Amino acid sequence: MKAALLFGPRDLKIQTTAAPSPGADEVVVRTRVAGLCGTDYSIWSGERAIAYPRVLGHEFVGTVESVGPGVTRVRAGDRVVVEPNYSCGTCPLCREGNRNLCLARTAVGIDVDGCFAELTRVPARCCWPAPESVADEDLSLTEPLAVIVRAVGRAAVRAGERVAVVGGGALGLLALQVLRGRGARVLVVSRSARRFDLARALGAEAVHAAEGGALEPVAREFSGREGVDCVLETAGTPEAVDVALALVRPGGRVVLTGLQQEPTPVRFFGVVRREVTILGSMIYQDEFGEAMRLVAAGTVRTRPLVTHRFGLDELDRAFVVHREPTAIKVVVTTT
Ligand SMILES: [Zn+2]
Ligand SMILES: [Zn+2]
Repeated sequence: MKAALLFGPRDLKIQTTAAPSPGADEVVVRTRVAGLCGTDYSIWSGERAIAYPRVLGHEFVGTVESVGPGVTRVRAGDRVVVEPNYSCGTCPLCREGNRNLCLARTAVGIDVDGCFAELTRVPARCCWPAPESVADEDLSLTEPLAVIVRAVGRAAVRAGERVAVVGGGALGLLALQVLRGRGARVLVVSRSARRFDLARALGAEAVHAAEGGALEPVAREFSGREGVDCVLETAGTPEAVDVALALVRPGGRVVLTGLQQEPTPVRFFGVVRREVTILGSMIYQDEFGEAMRLVAAGTVRTRPLVTHRFGLDELDRAFVVHREPTAIKVVVTTT
């Protein structure tokens, strides 16, 4: 089969490799559409170290090519969305339901080979039958959407609450829609105004370009009180935490989804004085099904976020374009 192997930072080669075959309780999936994200980029660029060679890619929709002994969840020919993380299932964290926190968790496309290839081997329990009426490309953002569904759940957002989303990228634009689906009123705060028309079209009531000015007045004006009830941080930059803390009201909640690689200085005086609740949210536990339902129901529109499409042979170019200002979501097709 054809696979894109990463041999080191920015050292990607399209090669013909042996096709994987499924073991017990495993499935081999033929990639149809795969999303490229910041995690893939950080590995491709060398910012995040992994064991080489590795096939990257973890956000994908495909067709079941073959199934191993004991698989009943899916059959060859089924169209599936893959949940690209699986835990050990036996440690105390897994047993109490915190499988996203399992210390022995396996991430497809990082710890084992991923979907920037024609075929990928995954445990059967990672395969979710795709809703028939929904196109591949619309489902290709299910994985990042599940991350957001969990973050919104962690924040326990209620209808009528005023919520700020920090970050205007793919995650921010998904968060905005999940929050609107819950009846929240949403302010999008981003470094650039580039996505503001799209944010408004997707339901943002207000938008603000954070250019170094004070954010407290913006949050007060939008909320009609001391700040917003809740902030969802999706930018993953060191400054984003400060931005979130400036927007939230006393007694409010801040949910962080970005995995900040750099340390971020935070004045905890204000966190204590204002009794702000800061929550981390790590990928997903049981949110995959809900993410697919939101897309199928049209509550979340993913298609407007797909700005670029590349073939597997053009993967290097896809990584470069991912960082260009015009890119929201870059997808790769192997057919
Ligand atoms: Zn991703
Ligand atoms: Zn575990």
